[in-house]
Formats: sequence, C-alpha cells, structure tokens
Amino acid sequence: MHCRWFGAWCGVLAWMTAVAVAAEPAKMKALIIDGQNNHNWKATTPLLKKYLEETGLFTVDVATAPIGKDLSSFHPKFSDYQVVVSNYNGQLWSPQTQSAFVKYVEGGGGFVSVHAANNAFPEWPEYNAIIGLGGWGGRNEKSGPYVRLKDGQIVYDTSKGPGGGHGRKHAFKVEIYDTEHPITQGLPKVWMHAADELYDKLRGPAQNLRVLATAYSDPKTGGTGQHEPMLLTVSYGKGRIFHTTLGHDTEAMSCVGFIVTFQRGAEWAATGKVTQPLPADFPTETAVKMRR
Ligand code: ZN
Repeated sequence: MHCRWFGAWCGVLAWMTAVAVAAEPAKMKALIIDGQNNHNWKATTPLLKKYLEETGLFTVDVATAPIGKDLSSFHPKFSDYQVVVSNYNGQLWSPQTQSAFVKYVEGGGGFVSVHAANNAFPEWPEYNAIIGLGGWGGRNEKSGPYVRLKDGQIVYDTSKGPGGGHGRKHAFKVEIYDTEHPITQGLPKVWMHAADELYDKLRGPAQNLRVLATAYSDPKTGGTGQHEPMLLTVSYGKGRIFHTTLGHDTEAMSCVGFIVTFQRGAEWAATGKVTQPLPADFPTETAVKMRR
C-alpha cells in the first residue's frame, strides 16, 4: 500500500515537472562582445552577463576578440542571437565579420552599444549608422551633427568641432525625454545616476534616431553646458539598436538606473517590447541606488 501511494506520488511529481518544463518559454540568446577596450572589460562583462541572465529572458554567450593579433579568426555567428551587446572598443574587425554584423542588424537583429562601444570604429560608416552617435577616434563635423536637448526640443547641431568628451566623473541626474518608449515608459522622469562619465559632444550620422534620455553636462564638472543624450535608440534596416552612453566602470554599472535601462534596452532590441516591471529599488530624483 505504502509503495503504491509512493509510486502514484512520483507519477504526479513527474507529470508536474514535465508541465513546468513545457510551460517555461524558451530563452532568447544574447551575445556579449569584448576582448579589446580601453575600459576594464574583464570586470564589466561579468556584470552585463549577470544582468541579462537575471531578466530570465536570455542565455548569454561571450565572444572575446584576441588582442594584438590578426582578427581574421574572430567571427562570432551573430545570426544565432536575438541580441548582440558590445563591450568592445578596439581593432577593426575583418571585412567578413563586418559584413556579417551589418547583415545581422539589417535583417532584424538587436544590438546594444554600451558606453565606450560608441568610441569604436570611427572609420566604419555602417557601424556609425548603427550606433547613431559616437565619440573620439578623430570624429568631427564630418561624422555628423551633435544631438542635444535645447528648450525642450532635440536639436541637431552641425557646427564644427571634435566628437566625444566628458568632464570629471560624478553622480548626475538623468532626465527622461521620451516617456512613451517601451524602455523608458514608467520610469521616474528624473533619476540620480551613480558616479560615471557623462559623455558629451557625441556626433554621428544620427539617422532614424530617438533620444530617450538626456543629462545636463555641467561646466562645473568640466562639461559642455549642454543637455547631452544619454540613452537612445536607432533603427537600421529591420534592426533595433539600444545605445547607452552610461557604464564607465563597475561602480557606474552597479547603479540600478544603469541596470534597469540596460535590461530593458536589451529586451527591446531583441523583441521590440519590454515586459520587465519597474523594480522597487529604482533611483529617485535625489537618491542614487546601487546593487552590489
Ligand atoms: Zn569611460
């Protein structure tokens, strides 16, 4: 009797497990690219990987480009992924890898550019179209306009000057400009970001670009006196791109504001939607919130 009951329970448990497994939606695949960056990618990639996994939406692979070598052996299979995240700022990829990447985005692939990934590849026009705006590497008025918020409007400024800069690292307010976009919908309109580099003077083709959030680059901290774009999206062919200028180091990336916008941005780039609720520990207008 005892054994029969036990057997029946085992059967029920096995059935419940099978139902649970069947009900779990298949996870999407995300790829992080690193290996060359004038930032500490060895410390930051594990955070980006963890944040993607914590959404429960993604399994994550990392493709690490070799350093100081011919990059012809570096050819991640972009088409296997719903979203590719760049934590890369280095040597130009091989022509084959470049064209595979452009084909991937054009065909509807998701891409996320994190912080210094927008410093990469000044010489590669398609990459600049994909990221919308970039900095350094000789970028100037030939790269495209500055994009700023002036009197409540986004303004494209074609005046001459270098592309890319930042003042001293400090905590600053991020102001949501586009409250309707799935990534920013429901976020506090203004929130304090942890100490980070506030990128300024970014320039690029800026086509099919949507500014989601800006920050005031204060001359007191070495800034431009302009409201600079912090979070933006770009569409390229059928591809969706989320571009965050935030995330200089592990401290900046431990800001809940960075984490949540990155997680939402990755989901949006992959699917065009955001299903993640706003967590209770999101920063406020006056208080930085960190996760360690
Ligand atoms: Zn930086």
